[in-house]
Amino acid sequence: MKEKKPFSKLERVTTAEEAIFASAGDHIMGLVVVDKNGKITRINKAFEVLTGWNKEEAIGRRLIKIIPMEDEKNKRIPFKKRILSKILSEKILTTISPSPVLATATTIAANIEKLPIFYYVRRDKTRFPVSTVINPIIFNKEIIGAVEVFYDITKEKELERMRMDFLSLASHQLRTPLSGTKWLIETMYRGIIGEMTKKQKEYLDDIYKINEQMIKLVSDILNTLRLENEETLIKKKKISISSLLKDVLITVSAAAKSKKITLRSSLNHRTFIIETDPEILKSILGCFLSNAINYSMPNQEVILGIKNESKTIVFFVRDFGIGIPKMEHNRIFERFYRASNAKKMIPSGTGLGLNIAKTIAEKIDAEISFESEENKGSTFYLRIPKRSNRGINKKKLKINKPKYE
Ligand code: ADP
Repeated sequence: MKEKKPFSKLERVTTAEEAIFASAGDHIMGLVVVDKNGKITRINKAFEVLTGWNKEEAIGRRLIKIIPMEDEKNKRIPFKKRILSKILSEKILTTISPSPVLATATTIAANIEKLPIFYYVRRDKTRFPVSTVINPIIFNKEIIGAVEVFYDITKEKELERMRMDFLSLASHQLRTPLSGTKWLIETMYRGIIGEMTKKQKEYLDDIYKINEQMIKLVSDILNTLRLENEETLIKKKKISISSLLKDVLITVSAAAKSKKITLRSSLNHRTFIIETDPEILKSILGCFLSNAINYSMPNQEVILGIKNESKTIVFFVRDFGIGIPKMEHNRIFERFYRASNAKKMIPSGTGLGLNIAKTIAEKIDAEISFESEENKGSTFYLRIPKRSNRGINKKKLKINKPKYE
């Protein structure tokens, strides 16, 4: 019998390395190494299972060619836009695509913005949502290739959907009793079931306010969920800014009056007609104004203004209230986030308004920004392009009209 030739030291090292690599990732994490040209040099077992390409077929071929990437709407991501291509062409050094853990955390803890989900297309043309991390391999200060770790996040997506469905169902169910309570309180106010004492009226006022807060919370949650689910939302129209602003001011005038806030509008808008979705615009400006009133002291002023720039119209809402502490500036668009001073002043806010405003602003290509100083006040800006190609003839955004106190 022919004796088996013992492995040389080099062979042993190489074989052991291969074995470690093949089993790395515990059959869940796909692992792939590419050279400077994006050609596959190594894959692990999980890569084969996840993509349907085996080692013999995959090695030597370009990764972005055999594993196409698509977005949520089945649209192919062009080669040039793939993270791997950017890394290999030394445009960026490292990138993390949406991690399911982070994506789930987004909606639970609302720590980061929602990231788009991408899909990898398998050999048999089916696809799966993916989370990937790609890093360049640097040798002698040169990028000589890249290593990618990825995994299938189908289960996480499904869990996320179930969680959203539950939240949506719970919010819908809460709406009916809350509207019922509101109707009963209004009946009592009208004195239909008899006159009330002053003390009883005071208690009823408090019940009414608490109920309104609950209605706002439920409506904010429903709007947030709707925004995450709906795809085509915009309906553009030619609108006269003056009549639109009049409508917005009416929605907040009661809140301003009850807090003795003067609403001033320094508007020179007679000539402005813009083409955008009026409901989105009203909703965002309503949110700015309502916040400005909420976070001002009684007897202060809130200013609604407009600037006509060459390519954009800028709306702004200025107040002289509590402002936002500098340390917290970068967090106030996060879902549920409320600055420490705002929580102290009004314990009952939802922290959803600005997040919704930012999401819907993106849908009309508009941009939101702000300047703020604690105890001095804030100015919130909405920049709308005079021309945008988005949203013609599309389904209308179903946003509940925000109810302001
Ligand atoms: P909410 O007002 O229900 O808390 P928002 O999402 O509208 O939720 O606002 C998020 C946070 O941003 C607020 O809690 C507050 O800390 C801060 N904020 C927004 N607008 C203002 C403002 N005009 N003045 C001071 N703080 C503001």
